[in-house]
Amino acid sequence: MASRTFQQYINGAFEDAAETFDSINPATGQVWASMPAASASDVDRAVVAAHEALVDSAWTSMNAGARAKLMMRLADLLVENNDLLAEIETADTGKIRRETRSQVLYIAEYYRYFAGLADKLVGHHMPIDKPDMEAYTLREPIGVVAAIVPWNSQMFLTAVKLAPALAAGCTVVIKASEDGPAPLLEFARLVHEAGFPSGVVNVITGFGDTAGKALTTHPLVSRIAFTGGPGTARHIVRNAAENLAVTSLELGGKSPVVVFEDADIDSAANAIVSGIFAATGQSCVAGSRLIVHESVHDALVTRLVAKAQAIVIGDPQLLETEMGPLATGRQLAAIQELVARSVEQGATVLTGGKQPDNHAGFYFEPTVLDCVSPDTACVQEELFGPVLSVLTFTSEAEAVALANDTKYGLASGVFTRDLGRAHRMVRKIRAGIVWVNTYRVISPMMPFGGYGMSGYGREGGAESILDYTRTKSVWINTSEAPIGDPFIMR
Ligand code: NAD
Repeated sequence: MASRTFQQYINGAFEDAAETFDSINPATGQVWASMPAASASDVDRAVVAAHEALVDSAWTSMNAGARAKLMMRLADLLVENNDLLAEIETADTGKIRRETRSQVLYIAEYYRYFAGLADKLVGHHMPIDKPDMEAYTLREPIGVVAAIVPWNSQMFLTAVKLAPALAAGCTVVIKASEDGPAPLLEFARLVHEAGFPSGVVNVITGFGDTAGKALTTHPLVSRIAFTGGPGTARHIVRNAAENLAVTSLELGGKSPVVVFEDADIDSAANAIVSGIFAATGQSCVAGSRLIVHESVHDALVTRLVAKAQAIVIGDPQLLETEMGPLATGRQLAAIQELVARSVEQGATVLTGGKQPDNHAGFYFEPTVLDCVSPDTACVQEELFGPVLSVLTFTSEAEAVALANDTKYGLASGVFTRDLGRAHRMVRKIRAGIVWVNTYRVISPMMPFGGYGMSGYGREGGAESILDYTRTKSVWINTSEAPIGDPFIMR
């Protein structure tokens, strides 16, 4: 029985949808809230509202500084409401309260960072090579943005899209995932309170093949910013063939963590734990492939197994809990299947590999699998769970080959005290992020995105605001002389 009901936010108003669906608390496996399921006509109203807001004076009369003030206000509201948002996100997704709390606080920094960029978006005056011409460029908002996010870290993955979009003067329709949408629907209340004009930000939720499809094919959408899986990304790209929206794709990963024989093993072990067991492994940058030099394999793996077994599994709302459940029963079943398949292929379970006793929800133990072959399913396929696959190497060249033996290329880690080797690895690893002697660090100042099946486009970093703009070229003839020969290009 749902104890909470959430509403969608369209054109500045909170409203029920004709259809709803139940949201399950992953820690209990029980229904805890009712969510609106946006229909195609709800999506259409949200996009039309965003399109009208784009040219409405309530938004266009705000200069960049005024937009930035609204974003700063939104950031303050995130901090003020941090506890409530964290509680809701934890209830809806099972992500531990410890992390949802710190993440909501840090998300505020994304709105502040991009607010600071709003009035630094400039065109250029050109020293043009034509007589009697003034020529300059303008940076204009690209238009209506469709921001589509998956169930993990919805608040964060929205911030990296919404903050640059608003700073650039765009309007946005956010489609929350059908799994765990509550924090974004609650976030809409803060958008409202911050005072954004109606239609500038709309938040809907619902299913991919209805709401998602209606949004990504909508003729008034100019920009699609998508985070999710590669399979869905293919649908999105096909959909964008309809409206020719500029599209960015932030997809999954199978990120390698390479540990050399000269690394600080204790420090590496802690970083590896944070890379694979934090957020119950449901992180696109999860460091799920450990590639360790054979001489330190036993020392490192012994530490990892001990650390995995000491992780406090429990109610994600309790601050002492270190690992909560997976977000959905579907996710749990997929991980169980992939672990079983990997074991059939020769992987050895060093710890975990099953559901813990005494937990009713979608829990899975922190798991370490020793793998002989890089072709093992758990080495090649993204699990999106707390499962670490271990491979060994003997030479730097072999480490590079193993690290790059993936269709993905989102993140990577390298642990070594050898500076030259660190730089060589940075150049050779095919991934959008390389962390050296650390893992899972983010900042609004740093671009985030992948190679290969991890998608294209970058989120975060000052340049990402440009992806929410178009350049307009302006030519002004200053001559009073009549225009001459019409049959030549000037
Ligand atoms: P998903 O691809 O199933 O869903 C993502 C979103 O797309 C959801 O909102 C869904 O409703 C929507 N969607 C589904 N079908 C659609 C369609 N036909 N048209 C339009 N929208 C549609 O992803 P998921 O299972 O929710 O999330 C897990 C995936 O996300 C993993 O692969 C993970 O690695 C990836 N991820 C990537 C990053 C990153 O930044 N690179 C971050 C987090 C998660």
